[in-house]
Amino acid sequence: MITQEADGWQVPDWRRLQADLVTDAAELCALLGLRPEQLPGGIDGDSDFPLRVPRRYLARITPGDPHDPLLRQVLASGRERDTVPGYGADPLAEADHTPVPGLLHKYHGRALLVVTGACAVHCRYCFRRHFPYQSHLSGGRWKQALDWLRAHPDIREVILSGGDPLTLSNQRLAGLMDELAAIPHLDRLRIHSRTPVVIPERLDDELRALLDTPRWRVTLVLHANHPREIDADLAGRCRALGRAGVTLLNQAVLLAGVNDDAETLAALSDRLHDAGVLPYYLHQLDAVAGAAHFAVSDHRALALHDALRARLPGFLVPRLAREEPGRHSKTVLKG
Ligand code: SF4
Repeated sequence: MITQEADGWQVPDWRRLQADLVTDAAELCALLGLRPEQLPGGIDGDSDFPLRVPRRYLARITPGDPHDPLLRQVLASGRERDTVPGYGADPLAEADHTPVPGLLHKYHGRALLVVTGACAVHCRYCFRRHFPYQSHLSGGRWKQALDWLRAHPDIREVILSGGDPLTLSNQRLAGLMDELAAIPHLDRLRIHSRTPVVIPERLDDELRALLDTPRWRVTLVLHANHPREIDADLAGRCRALGRAGVTLLNQAVLLAGVNDDAETLAALSDRLHDAGVLPYYLHQLDAVAGAAHFAVSDHRALALHDALRARLPGFLVPRLAREEPGRHSKTVLKG
């Protein structure tokens, strides 16, 4: 189905692309010409955190390469079943920062809305891979969270998160944004999303019009970890959003075997710059159960950051940071 037009090209409906998924590890391997035994650690065909890869993203993975950095982010590995001390289900103790279902309040002046449990892709290192979405999203969806925001005039910024807020339709987002816009003490709106990285078509004309609002200057924080995740289509759509007044930032996670080398990180910053997106944070992995094989030591992370600073202008070097439970802000290991 062809439903949209962007930059003169007809593009398929993002919702159809979102539904066009690979959900089976063996099928994913077969599509890429790989045998499961070629994968380091093998595959996990029965994970509690199901495999979910849009075919749109699959097209960017190199067939026949068991070490492809994009594949590594999405293929359920047998190593996810390793029990590693220090790794748990709620690595950031978010359960302690949930005043009402659907809302997290960790930092001064900011609150995060869990608007959905759905994601366009399941990232194997996700710190919310064990998050109890049902208890946050059942019943009067969003109502308690919005009531809490109305009752807390000290909150100035609201962050739409999840799950991934851009898996919601534009109509649902518009309804939520209308409710937030009516809360007078909110003066910043931020959206965290990885959906455009796996399905660039999500940044469609309708969304651009929605975010181009006089009520507030919207910040969209993307989540790209590798330069190959930013193709010309995504870059063009990001630049168009920038022209519409949206501030664009990127948060990456430092991941072993994906982006833990200076050349890849520098190329990521270059691609982001081409797209009009500022590299904002490079996060150290959160210690979530199932993801320990992605960890990079602080020693190596700091050395990589030094190497980036030697290659790039300061504004293209992301802050190396870690989130630690109970702290009032992220811990910046190197700025
Ligand atoms: S898109 Fe974000 S929330 Fe969803 S699995 Fe990936 S990292 Fe987690």
